[in-house]
Amino acid sequence: LVSRDNHPERSTVWVGGVPIGPGTVTLIAGPCAVETPQQTLEAAQMARAAGATLLRGGAYKPRTSPYAFQGLGEAGLRILADVREQTGLPIVTEVVDPDDVKLVASYADMLQVGTRNAQNFALLEAVGEIGKPVMLKRGMSATIEEWLMAAEYIAQRGNLDIVLCERGIRTFETATRNTLDVSAVPIAQRLSHLPVIIDPSHSGGHRDLVLPLTRAAIAVGADGVIIDIHPDPEQALCDGPQALTGSDIGDLARVMTLMPAVT
Ligand code: PEP
Repeated sequence: LVSRDNHPERSTVWVGGVPIGPGTVTLIAGPCAVETPQQTLEAAQMARAAGATLLRGGAYKPRTSPYAFQGLGEAGLRILADVREQTGLPIVTEVVDPDDVKLVASYADMLQVGTRNAQNFALLEAVGEIGKPVMLKRGMSATIEEWLMAAEYIAQRGNLDIVLCERGIRTFETATRNTLDVSAVPIAQRLSHLPVIIDPSHSGGHRDLVLPLTRAAIAVGADGVIIDIHPDPEQALCDGPQALTGSDIGDLARVMTLMPAVT
């Protein structure tokens, strides 16, 4: 279902009226985690100033440590819905448990399946059944074939509104948090009709890598980027070191005007 063999035209996925697909580079930006109404609103305003048309923000955070901030849950979803009301930006947010899919979908415009759940087949089937667009991150140790098969789990439940997100893979390199596999973009676009975006924040793991990797994403023909932004990264409860902040917004806006590659 996701293969380009039976569907030669590349697909566009619409999220709350915003296209992700060929011919455009969609900017999705916002806080890694929803912390407070004020922090989320400020991050959303910064995202919009940079040219973002979709707001990201996690209410359910799959953290490596059980002692780390796990997200606000439904209270976070309510904050996101309020901020959507105030800014007009549709919401992309993660769901981590099949039992929460209905609840998260009642607030979200797009459901995110994160790297740690990329082969949680019960979750993939549940998001396949709910009828909302899905952003499927690549498992950090998944081959491109495994990533596309994960997308197939969603598609075979009747949902073809899937965006693939390359977010870096595990390698021996420790200078970056994960190794951004830029070649995954043209390969996934050759094999699948689904749009493919890049997460330069979770791949590099460092603020100073976000803009170079965003340039790389645009150069390689990605259909969008998803970027962490925080009004005060030093105080962030999640992934502060990779968040862009106020002083970076002008540069991000300039990078986003670079011409997309010819596809
Ligand atoms: C995220 O985008 O908030 C996130 C946790 O990303 P990943 O699943 O790629 O680590």
